[in-house]
Amino acid sequence: MRSISILGATGSIGASTLDLVRREKGNWRVVALTANGNCAELARLAREFSAEIAVIADESRLAELRDALSGSDIEAAGGESALVEAAARSADITIAAIVGCAGLAPTMAAIEQGGIVGLANKEALVSAGEVMTAAVDRSKATLLPVDSEHNAIFQCLAGNDIGHVRSITLTASGGPFRDWSVEQLKNATPAQAVKHPNWDMGAKISVDSATMMNKGLELIEASHLFPVGLDRLRIVVHPQSIVHSMVEYRDGSTLAQLGPSDMRVPIASALAWPQRMDTPCEPLDLAAIGALTFRETDEQRFPATRLAREAAQAGGAAPTVLNAANEIAVAAFLDGRIAFTRIAAHVEEVLSCYAPDAPATLDEVIAIDAEARTRAKAGLLTESAPLD
Ligand code: NAD
Ligand code: MG
Repeated sequence: MRSISILGATGSIGASTLDLVRREKGNWRVVALTANGNCAELARLAREFSAEIAVIADESRLAELRDALSGSDIEAAGGESALVEAAARSADITIAAIVGCAGLAPTMAAIEQGGIVGLANKEALVSAGEVMTAAVDRSKATLLPVDSEHNAIFQCLAGNDIGHVRSITLTASGGPFRDWSVEQLKNATPAQAVKHPNWDMGAKISVDSATMMNKGLELIEASHLFPVGLDRLRIVVHPQSIVHSMVEYRDGSTLAQLGPSDMRVPIASALAWPQRMDTPCEPLDLAAIGALTFRETDEQRFPATRLAREAAQAGGAAPTVLNAANEIAVAAFLDGRIAFTRIAAHVEEVLSCYAPDAPATLDEVIAIDAEARTRAKAGLLTESAPLD
């Protein structure tokens, strides 16, 4: 029996993780489940999995959570500090699946307890970079990538010496707008952006996929997880999302990991590591798929990968600022306040006017993130005409 905590249990990654846990319930003891505001779903899951504690980040909803859990012996807690305390409880594995920098402090708390952390919450690593990797080293935690590309790379590196890597290629589906013109992109709606052709994901990452910022964030994520140097990290558009990423070695061998576009595959790889477990996913039928194609990214139409690469090259606080500005711009786009093409433009503007010193501690990362958000929001107020 192994113990597990899921930060962001009510989201897309949370649901996929719990689906796998549900299939082998006897093997798992659930410690903490957390959510932002959906008390009913959190309580339902906490009861189903007999969680030790359920935490709602929005403290104003704690009374509602307590009501929903009444009659059970599940602890209820609310607020950011409760989230961090729950994440710090001992668990064999924690799945970090909160969206955005909101997941940073709880993910760091899970890392500090020294167990295995399955990282889906890429924004936390992008934002905290060296601060997080130093915490992993210090606490002897094991950080397992759940993001499908990074999980693929992790699998392709197994048994090899990272010193022999010539390049690492992240694959990108290209998102729902990969063939759209700039004119069409200007009028792209939130509903169109969240309809990803291959993956079923939360709203924020779906928009990031559409702008290609997701791949930009993943480039920065990869630079921390696989320190081969930025010049060895590549991106290629692969519309079928079957090859999840590749590692090329000095002898000319390229290893790739393939699988269905279903996050339960990389999540299962992290849950069972270093073993393997069953998933309900359909086996890959390459003959039915027929062709796997690859093409260059187009940074004219999708500048986000350039912005992320530049932020990674600049290092220090630049990725923290990039991530924060992107979170604000994506939220504004989803609210119908800015045009799709303004997301990357806005991120670039914030990056060009806010360049603080590199953060050395978690508190400094959080302070820079907060200031970047304030500036990003202020910048939005000066945006021209809002969308209809
Ligand atoms: P989602 O929006 O479906 O779920 C997010 C979860 O985080 C929910 O449980 C929500 O309650 C919680 N949450 C949101 N805001 C919060 C806050 N302020 N404080 C505390 N909790 C909060 O998102 P998702 O698609 O599951 O993505 C989660 C993370 O995994 C993201 O970082 C995303 O980039 C990454 N990821 C997702 C996928 C995917 O297929 N969905 C793939 C790779 C990586
Ligand atoms: Mg990914």
